[in-house]
Amino acid sequence: HGVTGILAVQGAFAEHAAMLDRLGAPWKLLRAAEDFDDSIDRVILPGGESTTQGKLLRSTGLFEPIAEHIAAGKPVFGTCAGMILLARKLDNDDNVYFGALDAVVRRNAYGRQLGSFAATANFGSSSGDSAVVVAPGEHVPQDAPADIVLKDFPLVFIRGPFVAEVGPAATVETSVDGNVVGLRQGKILATAFHPELTDDTRIHELFLSL
Ligand code: GLN
Repeated sequence: HGVTGILAVQGAFAEHAAMLDRLGAPWKLLRAAEDFDDSIDRVILPGGESTTQGKLLRSTGLFEPIAEHIAAGKPVFGTCAGMILLARKLDNDDNVYFGALDAVVRRNAYGRQLGSFAATANFGSSSGDSAVVVAPGEHVPQDAPADIVLKDFPLVFIRGPFVAEVGPAATVETSVDGNVVGLRQGKILATAFHPELTDDTRIHELFLSL
């Protein structure tokens, strides 16, 4: 493995770093364009405030290397604001950032009262018998097959988005109350929730296996 670059211009980047420490995976904070060196083989886009992150991506010069990384089909994991940065389109905001994820994403989708809540759901779309099922407390195999289900994943939402429309390139991995909150598209993972704020390392393990 190479190093995971964690976008660290704003938001919950430290929590992702702590998660990778638990897994013994090397990481590097991306604060300036020169931080994105050849050692980086995957990228995490953390939660936070997507408009602010978008501006700082431009002013730091980190936008271009990350966009090239994504365009090359390399692994990227966006949580919450990170999902917003990845989306092809936002349905309540004119901004588009990386535009790589075939989905229309709605910011602050739950309104003020319901903005922050917890739930539990499976991560993984497969219902087939061949799916590898990983229960809470178990580890994701590092040669993880595409057909994998992380059972009963704890979902933490903080003024998060949901996916209003899923395009054909993306696969729904998690839904809560009929709203899509987890997607996968090739080596792109995107969650409206925050696995880095839980004790559950399975989605990070899955990301490291890509
Ligand atoms: N509400 C934030 C936004 O729209 C996302 C919230 C989060 O990342 N926790 O950018």
